[in-house]
Amino acid sequence: MSDNLGLIQIGPTTDYSLNTLKGQVSEKFPRYKVETLEPIVEPAEAYDSFRDQYHSTRILVILEELVKTTHVELLLGVAPHDLYVPNMNFVFGEARCPGRAAVISTFRLKSQARSNPELFGSRVVKEAVHEIGHMQGLRHCTDPLCVMYFSERLSDTDRKHDFCAECGRNVMWLEVE
Ligand SMILES: [Zn+2]
Ligand SMILES: [Zn+2]
Repeated sequence: MSDNLGLIQIGPTTDYSLNTLKGQVSEKFPRYKVETLEPIVEPAEAYDSFRDQYHSTRILVILEELVKTTHVELLLGVAPHDLYVPNMNFVFGEARCPGRAAVISTFRLKSQARSNPELFGSRVVKEAVHEIGHMQGLRHCTDPLCVMYFSERLSDTDRKHDFCAECGRNVMWLEVE
């Protein structure tokens, strides 16, 4: 039996198509049937006009409500907007860990990648895989090459590659529950 994982655009589409991401995520997580859901508008209540950023936790609350009304088990939002949580200048994404909702932002992933769509795309996939790992219960990993390493800056994301052996095993283990 396969579980369903939904990808949902939040606000205007970015240069990175959800269909491309769908293919990449399907390869990484064969357990899931990945699909794209109808896009939603960015939630006004998550917007901080002083910071000109969206509060990612508030978006998670909305996605958690939304996912209950769908047939998917997990829901990953993709937003072009810059995200933050209090006490941090920004975040690349946030997820319930474990849980059913996560969000990533493509806002900062374009830096120095405007003429390099492959680099941009690989960053989007890494952030998506990272947040999906969190939804499955994986915590941050201390291996800087592991996709579950916490990205504080873009160079962290670019250095990351895939699940380390241990996180990979944990993902496998979580898959056979
Ligand atoms: Zn994380
Ligand atoms: Zn790891």
